[in-house]
Parts: sequence; structure tokens; C-alpha cells
Amino acid sequence: MSFIPYGRQDISEEDIAAVVGALRSDWLTQGPQIRAFEEAMAARCGARHAISVANGTAALHLAALAAGLGPGDRLWTSPNTFVASANCALYCGAEVDFVDIDPRTYNMSAEGLQKKLEIARKEDRLPKVIVPVHFAGQSPEMECIRAMTQKYGITIIEDASHAVGAEYQGRPVGDCSHCEMTTFSFHPVKIMTTGEGGMILTNRDDLADKLRLLSQHGITRDASRMQTESHGPWYYEQIDLGFNYRITDLQSALGQSQLKRLPEFLRRRREIAARYDELLKALPLTLPWQRPDTLSSWHLYVIRLHLEKIGKTRRQIFEELREVEIGVQVHYIPVHIHPEYQQRGFRPGDFPNAEEYYEEALSLPIYASLTDDQQDRVVDCLQQLTA
Ligand SMILES: *Cc1c(COP(=O)(O)O)cnc(C)c1O
Repeated sequence: MSFIPYGRQDISEEDIAAVVGALRSDWLTQGPQIRAFEEAMAARCGARHAISVANGTAALHLAALAAGLGPGDRLWTSPNTFVASANCALYCGAEVDFVDIDPRTYNMSAEGLQKKLEIARKEDRLPKVIVPVHFAGQSPEMECIRAMTQKYGITIIEDASHAVGAEYQGRPVGDCSHCEMTTFSFHPVKIMTTGEGGMILTNRDDLADKLRLLSQHGITRDASRMQTESHGPWYYEQIDLGFNYRITDLQSALGQSQLKRLPEFLRRRREIAARYDELLKALPLTLPWQRPDTLSSWHLYVIRLHLEKIGKTRRQIFEELREVEIGVQVHYIPVHIHPEYQQRGFRPGDFPNAEEYYEEALSLPIYASLTDDQQDRVVDCLQQLTA
């Protein structure tokens, strides 16, 4: 009986050959694979620009900087996310606040946002940036969020780390039709991987230029952007403070190969989710609810345990599943209750929907190479432990 993790990468012989090909080429980093990967991803998503970076966290940091976020500004996100969605504001010296979740989708609540914006407007404390997170692979209510925030000139950055290949209102996530920028992560547990890796998509030329500049130390070789005359053919100028957030050619070769397999990954994840829906429907659980205008990429399959009916704690069920080699996980510890955030003034009780959800949530194994037999074992164990 082997361990079944909650998520894992799927690497084929073709993926390996693509990386070996890059290793045998003239470039390990900053070669032709990077642009090719960006162009393929932009085409897949229907966005004008794609800028690849070292990881999804770097993507969020640069997107926040490109949005002009700085000291004295505010960024709002969901408390039900990985800490990186909020940390990007702190990197820029800005403040973070959260909008509680919708108890059905576990995404930022559009209604909650509306109310919070109303209060912030009266107090003259509107955020400069809002980061809706595509939790588990399902899109937030982007049309609604855009409509509420546009009149205030708020920049929207969609954290779509979970949602490569997902759709919203029949269009691909990443086409940026309701935001300025969308970010992806290519960490091995996500939908497709480059090892570490991330990307920012945008339709705005000015943001694309800024993002590219900031990902490469703020250095330009474009004479038209230089402030002094060129000293000669070797000359470059640093015109802003950026970072080394580059992805490599090796990773970009893997990314292109994985992107070709994306339809296969999505098909299998959706099949597994539909199978869980069917096999778990009689158990004392709340299964993931999907808005009719979304098509999830199913990064996570999260159930909520009806603990009173089951007569156990979530921790008991978690540990009992781990004992039989089923690698369940919990997504997420609400960001605001981490000590770093409590030091910044947040307290348990601040975002009750996210906290209540957190008490009962459990992520079941879902990934492209999970077999039906493995899934059946997860279902059988869960059935026994909740009976
Ligand atoms: C994974 C993840 C990130 C960060 O991505 P990395 O590539 O690991 O830096 C950001 N936000 C969310 C919601 C994530 O799940």
C-alpha cells in the first residue's frame, strides 16, 4: 500500500526529452525557450502579453509593484489562500486587509466586497489593489468584482495559481477580461509544472514593459528608454529597482511540454472530481459547489466534514487517513491568524466564514496520474472513518 499524496506532478518521457534538449542547447537561461513558452501561454489564454518569472510569489510581487502599490496603499485579498497572495502587499510596504469568503465557493465574497468598499469609501480608505484568488481552480465572480471596483480605479490582480486551464463565462482564465493582470504558479502540485515557475498575463503594453523591466533588475538595453547617451555597444542602464526573478530555459522547455499536455491534465482532473461527486454523495460531507458560469481546473477537491454527525474531530479524521497512507491536506489556514498577521493587528474572529470553513475543510487527493483504484481506496477509507 503506497502513499497517495493530495497532489503531485506528472512528468512524461516527452517532458524529460524537452529538458534534455534544452540542456544540450547553447542556453540554460535567457534563451529562446523563455519567449516560446510565454508566447504559447499567452496564446492559450488569449492575453496580449505573458511575462514568465521564477515562481508564483514573484509574479504577485511584480504585479503589485507594476500596479504602483507602495507605502500608504492598501491591498485586499481573500483570507482563504496561501500566504503569498497577501505577502506581496507587505513586500511593497503597503497594508493588507481581507474580504471574507462566500460560504459556498470559499472564494472572496462579492457581496462582502461590496459592503467593505462602501465603508472604505466613506472613510477614505479604499484599496489600490484587490487580489481575488481562484480557490481550488474555480473563478471568483470576476464580472461583479470588476463592476464594483472600476469606478474607483482599483487595480485587479487575479491570483490564478490554482486555475491554469480553468474557464469563466466560457473564456479562459488569464485572458484578463476582468482584470489588469493574472498570475499563475507552476509549482509541482499545481495544474502544470516547471519545477519552480510563475507567469503574469496582461493585455496592457505599459504593464508588460514594467513587469519585464522589474523581472530583470530594472535594467534596459533599449536606447529609447535610457536617460543618458549610450557609452557604446556594451552599455545598459538600470532605470528602476528590479529583481532577478527570471525563469530559466530549462524550466521553459518543460513548461512548453507540459502545456501541450494541459488538456489531458484537465480532462483527468475533471473526471476525478466528477467521480468523487458521485461516490461521496451519500456521506456526511459538503461537496464542492460550483457556480454555473465557471469551469474549474480542479487543483483541489475540498470537502467539509459534518463533524457533529460524524462524532469525531477534523484532526482525528485527518490523522486516521494519514495512518492508512492517504495524504489529505488542509487548505487553508486563514492568512490573518498566522502570527505574522496577528502582529499586524488581525485577530481570530475577524473573518468568521473563512475560520468556520477552515475548521471542517479537508483536501482529498486529486492529480492527473491518480488511478481509479487509488481513488476508490480514498473513498472506501473515508466511508469507513465517517460511518
Ligand atoms: C502556490 C500559490 C502561490 C505561490 O506560488 P509559488 O510558485 O509557490 O511561489 C500563490 N498563491 C496561491 C493561491 C498559491 O496556491
